Amino acid sequence: MDPKRFVANHIVDLPKSGIRDFFEIVAKMTNVISLGIGEPDFDTPWHIREAAIYALEKGKTHYTSNLGLIELRRAISSYVEKTFSIGYRPEDEIIVTVGVSEALDIAFRALINPGDKVLYHQPCYVSYHPSVTLTHGIGVPVPTFAKDNFALTAESLRAAWQPGCKLLVLNLPCNPTGGTCSRAQLEDIARFCVEKDLLVLSDEIYSELTFDGVHVSIASLPGMKERTIFLHGFSKAFAMTGWRIGYACGPAVLVDAMMKVHQYSMMCASIVSQEAAIEALVRGEDGMKKMRDQYHRRRDFIVRRFNEIGLACHLPRGSFYAFPCVTSTGKNERDFAVGLLEAERVAVVPGTAFGANGSGFVRACFATSYEQLILASDRIERYVQGLASAKPPESRG
Ligand code: PMP
Repeated sequence: MDPKRFVANHIVDLPKSGIRDFFEIVAKMTNVISLGIGEPDFDTPWHIREAAIYALEKGKTHYTSNLGLIELRRAISSYVEKTFSIGYRPEDEIIVTVGVSEALDIAFRALINPGDKVLYHQPCYVSYHPSVTLTHGIGVPVPTFAKDNFALTAESLRAAWQPGCKLLVLNLPCNPTGGTCSRAQLEDIARFCVEKDLLVLSDEIYSELTFDGVHVSIASLPGMKERTIFLHGFSKAFAMTGWRIGYACGPAVLVDAMMKVHQYSMMCASIVSQEAAIEALVRGEDGMKKMRDQYHRRRDFIVRRFNEIGLACHLPRGSFYAFPCVTSTGKNERDFAVGLLEAERVAVVPGTAFGANGSGFVRACFATSYEQLILASDRIERYVQGLASAKPPESRG
């Protein structure tokens, strides 16, 4: 008997993540410098860990309210008000989730009817398209380009829009490009959303890691709070990936709809992680800023090095990813990444893991130590020089 026939059709057809594939190869190798997986190299600051230990000592080992601890929702409300200038009621406009991953999942499941179309800018985070497919929606990618520093423009959005589009997923600053939008660009996007009656799912997980200018949330623009679900979490800014904790804020009816899905699936986020999250929000700002300063220094270094090496790289305004173009080497993104790994033991992710128009680019995560980045950039330089000298003379230029 072949158990495979029990698997649902839409799962059979769902491709596995391009990142995972690649990192199965990496896992079998030694002495690799990984600029691959998008996760802080810092451990969670000690005072946050201590808050969790203390919570356990006090016997906090139980379920919480489905929406999350009210103390945490109050802390989220104050933090979001202070940081993003958006006010959400702790009682019914905030839900605590198992990472932004779960917030995305329950939002899609609560909002998408079969056949609804969902716009998202591309290259984008690997989970958006599959999550839409899992809920029987139809993903509609909107390309962003290196010439615009990978900012989403209202013109591209208009060109991609089709009848039946219901949602727009925004991820600013963006994984994998580090692109973001100016206030003026966001205002144009907001006007377009009102014109086409789109609801926005705004994944702002990298917002604290904005290096140039000020991060603006689309939910803070006039008329947008009621048509935006604001998604945020602790994984990146507070170096808390393993705690699996995040949240969604939005109009009470939409939070209530998401709560139904959450209630019957996760029930609640881990109480220990919720206690740690309170500490992160209330006393974590200094630690977060110190980490951001490190990422900023590393960004300036690695982007300068990529450009020196001849891999054209725009300046990512936020996140901890650089997204250089590798076409000058004569290789496509996958061959470049595999070749670099084999020749020099440096792991980067082929840009097509983030959608078809990531073609010609690779993603390099700079959430690794400065010393490792120096070493990695020297290895990349040697690899690129080796490729150039291996080219037949007529194709050198
Ligand atoms: N959104 C984006 C854009 C991400 O890059 C990630 C993690 N890589 C997530 C969501 C998921 O984050 P979490 O750990 O909060 O589930």
